[in-house]
Amino acid sequence: PTALLWFRRDLRLGDHPALLAAVDAAGPDGTVVPVFVVDPRLWEPSGRPRREFLRGCLADLREQTGGALVIRSGDPARVLPDLVRETAAGSVHVSADAGVYGRARDAAVERALGEVPLVCTGSPYGVAPGRLLKDDGTPFKVYSPFARVWRARGVHSPAARPDRLVWADGVRTEDLPPAQDLGGTVLPPAGEQAGLDAWTLFRDQRLLGYATGRNTPGTDGTSRLSAHLRYGTVHPRTLVAEAQALGEDSAGAVDKFVGELIWRDFYADVLWHRPETAREPFDPEMRRMEYDSGPVADEHFAAWAEGRTGYPIVDAGMRQLHGEAYVHNRVRMVVASFLCKDLHIDWRRGARYFFDHLVDGDLASNQHGWQWVAGTGTDPSPYHRVFNPTRQGQQFDPDGTYVRRWVPELRDVPDRYVHEPWTMPGGPPEGYPAPVVDHAEERQVALARYQAVRGA
Ligand code: FAD
Repeated sequence: PTALLWFRRDLRLGDHPALLAAVDAAGPDGTVVPVFVVDPRLWEPSGRPRREFLRGCLADLREQTGGALVIRSGDPARVLPDLVRETAAGSVHVSADAGVYGRARDAAVERALGEVPLVCTGSPYGVAPGRLLKDDGTPFKVYSPFARVWRARGVHSPAARPDRLVWADGVRTEDLPPAQDLGGTVLPPAGEQAGLDAWTLFRDQRLLGYATGRNTPGTDGTSRLSAHLRYGTVHPRTLVAEAQALGEDSAGAVDKFVGELIWRDFYADVLWHRPETAREPFDPEMRRMEYDSGPVADEHFAAWAEGRTGYPIVDAGMRQLHGEAYVHNRVRMVVASFLCKDLHIDWRRGARYFFDHLVDGDLASNQHGWQWVAGTGTDPSPYHRVFNPTRQGQQFDPDGTYVRRWVPELRDVPDRYVHEPWTMPGGPPEGYPAPVVDHAEERQVALARYQAVRGA
């Protein structure tokens, strides 16, 4: 028989339980049809970096399957039943999609397939969303207890490669989706081997120093695996297994790194239980928070988006976003805090902008990363701890390496001024703006607005 393997956020062949299930279903004489559906409802709203990275992953899969990958565009609830008829497939295999749209789409596909089963095996997560509950049977709302239970449960071992795998050939396919014009944005290489290479480099050269190195945006201290995890060219299971097999020396760093993978699972779990939190504050009380809109807010937003707020670390972060479709985690927190608490702009506007421009843009991690910073989300940072962009820069980028890399106007500024160039005798260097707002004043405004919500 023939089995269909529908790829979504699992664009790899290694450590792939749904592929094994498809091979099993096909049996010793059967073939597997690998298919990717370009769904306009996901493709259209994706920013160009994500489209281009996805395109690269598909090119890689096509090569890895010896050209057997079938690409079809359209509504999966129409495309898949057609393909099942054409190939006489007996089952359709997927890794579960926990996303808000993905769940609804899968239900529609399942109905449209009728008698032919849609078989879910595995998920893009270490522990699939919805699996872990508190003792009282309710979902976790706070990271630390979720992480404790996650660690106690552990993750499965990586799946082996199938012994025998014959791809169906001769099935009609469309071309890869069109290449995207990225302007000057440089993306990391896409595809499974690129993901594994990035992982190996990190494991062998950076993991040991991760606990501290992860906080300094001027050095490449983190794995840069987020886009690969987003598209499933690597699975967290592979990473956890290999990291935990390292020696005692790395135990602390591995613990920290696994802790970050748990954040990813945690946010996916939160979104699974509360899908409306992709748009609404997780904390309902925070719906009353007052944000600015109108021409001044629009000007402020533009200054933020274009990296010309006059606060070097904020501007460097937003320019990194345009340069690499990626921002270092510490700086994501700083620029998000600046938008919400210094410019008083709704986190949703910033989240949308990130989502359009990030190559790793992921609904759960992005919306909840923003909500965490905005103080509207799970486990919020105490609202009064407003990130001070100058202090953050001085602490985590003390010699200005990161700022100088992304803000050429500041390249020759002495270290002591690099995070507060407005204090230079004669003001900031030519071409670099004065601060758009005064941080100390806006912090007071943010706190007062917060008090108005909490005090009411
Ligand atoms: P590493 O430090 O090497 O971490 C390894 C992996 O763990 C990451 O690839 C990621 O999958 C996961 N991870 C690490 N930190 C977090 C976190 N705080 N939350 C969830 N998962 C995490 N991450 C995304 O993948 N997509 C997003 O759209 C996204 N938007 C964010 C928006 C804001 C405002 C903030 C504060 C954070 C956001 N993050 C997002 C989380 C984090 O910034 C990135 O995952 C991380 O910077 C990616 O770099 P890395 O792969 O080198 O991370």
